[in-house]
Amino acid sequence: MLNVLIIGNGQCGNRILDSINKQAMNRGSTTKEASGGLSKYISKHKYHSNVQTVAINTAINDLKEMKYTKAKDRIHIKNLHGVGANRTIGKEVFEQQKATILRNIEERGNFDVAFVITSASGGTGSSFTPPLVEELKKAHDFPIYTVVVLPFREEGTLYLQNAAFMLKELRDGPCDGIILADNQYLKSIGGNVQDAYDGINAMIARRLIFLLDSLDSEMMMVTDLGDFKTVMKGGAGLATIGYFKAESDMPIRTVIQNALSPRGLLFSTDVYKEAGRAMVILKGDKKYLGMDDVSAEIERLTGAVGHVFKGLIVENGSLPEALCVLTLNSAEELESLYEGAVQAIGIEKDKKDRVKKKKEMESAFMTIDGMDPEY
Ligand code: GDP
Repeated sequence: MLNVLIIGNGQCGNRILDSINKQAMNRGSTTKEASGGLSKYISKHKYHSNVQTVAINTAINDLKEMKYTKAKDRIHIKNLHGVGANRTIGKEVFEQQKATILRNIEERGNFDVAFVITSASGGTGSSFTPPLVEELKKAHDFPIYTVVVLPFREEGTLYLQNAAFMLKELRDGPCDGIILADNQYLKSIGGNVQDAYDGINAMIARRLIFLLDSLDSEMMMVTDLGDFKTVMKGGAGLATIGYFKAESDMPIRTVIQNALSPRGLLFSTDVYKEAGRAMVILKGDKKYLGMDDVSAEIERLTGAVGHVFKGLIVENGSLPEALCVLTLNSAEELESLYEGAVQAIGIEKDKKDRVKKKKEMESAFMTIDGMDPEY
């Protein structure tokens, strides 16, 4: 059984972690879904692996908001006024408080793999994640993957520049791979912002739980952690995940195509142009997993990306599902985010210059303080 550590940093990371714990609690429920309230005290997380979850935040209210993550798994990092969206302050707070975080993680034993989930653009998660990965890598040799949520592009200049710097720090550091999810790309989920967040969080949670299951399954022809590591080593250190589950009878080829299409992916990419390596895991009743159909679609993908690991999980009576992990050689969408970030930095700099000018103006006014006009 795999030992897995999942950390959620900051508000976004905490909420996605809670969604993962919610789904792990609800799985197999035939009656009413666990809905917080009493259920959180009597239900158990039904992970196939030995999964430990840890939520980290400077904002106590974000931690209190969590419904499916045990109190002992929530670490509050005290900092009087939070960190705002200021990554410089965030990094200072991490440096001062890292011993508390690292001790809590150390006490949980050793792991085979870890995932750290965060937004790229806020304050706490965005500034804590790169140094946290670095500290953990100093002490351990298990692979650490980050799941990074990109901001809605209209959220403003500070978020955009935070995202750009945060991703660069992660790529320059010892992180074993960055799995991208993009709020902007996923916002078509619709509804108000909270509904969109809940929908996006559930999508990410479903994909991660499926991934963990497939790395730790005893069913026929599955992929394992070694395959996942090889896939994640490909490409430019960036990856994303696609997933689709049929709601009625559907040929497996269509299920795979849907997982690789905008309705299945977490990040905007043309898989056939940008992907570097892939892992495709198919699950469902045997009748859907005919070798000829599976092979035909996988070969099409292999032709474009080079190497595709394939796993099949037979689950009697289940409709077909497909999960695809894709590393990316290039990412046009990310290039345009960086163009936006450069503009954002320019705008913020201009604003600072204007403040300086305003101060010069004020001192010009002050030069006549205490004087009277002479006529
Ligand atoms: P932090 O608590 O300081 O780390 O900041 P946040 O995690 O709130 O980061 C702000 C960014 O995260 C913005 O781009 C938000 O759109 C995004 N965000 C906040 N909460 C959620 C959430 O629950 N789900 C998703 N998908 N994005 C979120």
